[in-house]
Amino acid sequence: MIKKMSITTKIMIAMAVGLVFGSLINAFLHEVDFVQTYLVKGLFHVVGAAFVNALKMLVVPLVTFSLICGVCGIGDVSVLGRVGLKAFGLYILTIGMAITLALLIAIVAAPGQGFERAAGEASAFSPKPAPPLTDVFINIVPSNPINAFAEGNMLQIIFFVILFSIAMLMCGDIGRELHKAAEKLNEVMMKVVTLVMDFAPIGVFFLMAKTFSEQGIGLILPMIGYFSVVVIALLIHAFGTFSLLLAVFAKLNPIIFIKKMRPAHVFAFSTASSNATIPVTLQVVEKRLGVNNATASFTVPLGATINMDGTAIMQGVATVFIANVYAIDLGISDYITIVGMSILASIGTAGVPGVGLIMLAMVFNQVGLPVEGIGLILGVDRLLDMVRTAVNVTGDATVTCIVARGENEIDEAIFNDPDAGVITEVELPHKHEV
Ligand code: ASP
Repeated sequence: MIKKMSITTKIMIAMAVGLVFGSLINAFLHEVDFVQTYLVKGLFHVVGAAFVNALKMLVVPLVTFSLICGVCGIGDVSVLGRVGLKAFGLYILTIGMAITLALLIAIVAAPGQGFERAAGEASAFSPKPAPPLTDVFINIVPSNPINAFAEGNMLQIIFFVILFSIAMLMCGDIGRELHKAAEKLNEVMMKVVTLVMDFAPIGVFFLMAKTFSEQGIGLILPMIGYFSVVVIALLIHAFGTFSLLLAVFAKLNPIIFIKKMRPAHVFAFSTASSNATIPVTLQVVEKRLGVNNATASFTVPLGATINMDGTAIMQGVATVFIANVYAIDLGISDYITIVGMSILASIGTAGVPGVGLIMLAMVFNQVGLPVEGIGLILGVDRLLDMVRTAVNVTGDATVTCIVARGENEIDEAIFNDPDAGVITEVELPHKHEV
């Protein structure tokens, strides 16, 4: 008998078919009004966007319940502080490594030298003002937690929930009862995740079909130099740096890790949002890689917010590219500024589509590059956003595994078991069962 296809395989097939379908529309039916109005901007857009909304819908309640369970599970404020510091330190380290790698590769490959600028193209980008960096730190503390929850501001939610959970620990029996309730709610939320996952093949198909019918692979050609340097740096970081860190610091097999990360990669790639991917990353890290909820519930949402290695890589290459296009020399102090700014930009922005580009304007301002130069790389940014988001999410999971290993919070048997936590389809309850 034919083996039943796993949901991940179905999602991967849907992704590939959506990509081909979208590209074909872009190549042959781009000018057809009916196709654009009813398919691309109609059906594809509606189903794809509704699916991304369904993913985002899970994030706030899931992170809240899961984080309460995590903090109460750790139960000791000093351990919590240690986990937080380790995760934060490792996130900064990986971003630093990412941007340095990107700068080195870009300096050697020198994309943009002799680049012909199309007339008028560079003026298309007018950046939104980047938030002042002081605000980034002030705004970690929510003045109104309900507002933070309503807006889905992850850093503020994490801050408030940790404080609330510490207070629960201090409240004895009342806190313990609430902890039990949070555990039950967390379990139910995980089921909601599985329900949404059942629709993932459809959602991913339409997301990919929409993106590629609009983008078209042909866009890459004039930008092939910049595009390939970013992608090469992203791949080296994803498969080289992370594997090395996992093997050295956590003594875990990177090949198993990469294989098991597949569902998170697919979601990050098709949504271009680390935030919307949090439910999938959490599920992969806990159920497939064996990290205890106590660590994962804290480090995954934190990483999705502050850790953006892929974004930093794009920013590094983009800076060198634009400097080359405009024949502006960058000195060593400029490079140091770029490293520092990229780290701060990564901490200060949420993991949503396209934000990396807005923060790039901040980096450009700092080193005196023309901000309108960003107009040149705008066209290929959506595709790069998809790839770099997958790298961002891989970084979150890598650091989570390393921190969990140090805390003895990872179950190696689950990590090594190829079938552990495979995402399955859910059976909906029937009347007589409820
Ligand atoms: N889309 C990226 C993320 O969600 C951020 C960016 O690079 O624009 O991680």
